[in-house]
Amino acid sequence: MKHATIGKWSDISHSEHARIRRQKVKKEVLTHYGNGNCSCVRCGFEDIRALSIDHINGNGHYLRTKNKSHRNITKWLKDNDFPIGYQTLCMNCQFIKRFEKGEENPTVREKLRRSEGVC
Ligand SMILES: [Zn+2]
Repeated sequence: MKHATIGKWSDISHSEHARIRRQKVKKEVLTHYGNGNCSCVRCGFEDIRALSIDHINGNGHYLRTKNKSHRNITKWLKDNDFPIGYQTLCMNCQFIKRFEKGEENPTVREKLRRSEGVC
């Protein structure tokens, strides 16, 4: 039996379909945790490339219990009916929050700089 072609979609590979599906889920999850907007809840930054999910109280249930890669958290959140305790933040606000809460993970260079008392 011959397969029917479905317009332009037939030209797109399976990996491209998967990428598009992941982007769609990511946008849906970021919008949910961005209080209805696909943007950072702190500063309003909207570029999806620099938005991510933040555990409001530090390392969350997901990472502690599931031990899955952080990359799949958007799918996990959707599959688990959007549990509470998460928010959408841009990378700037993620790092600022980590610094404010003392959660930053300094690099060796930063540690050395601190031990030398250089700002
Ligand atoms: Zn922000």
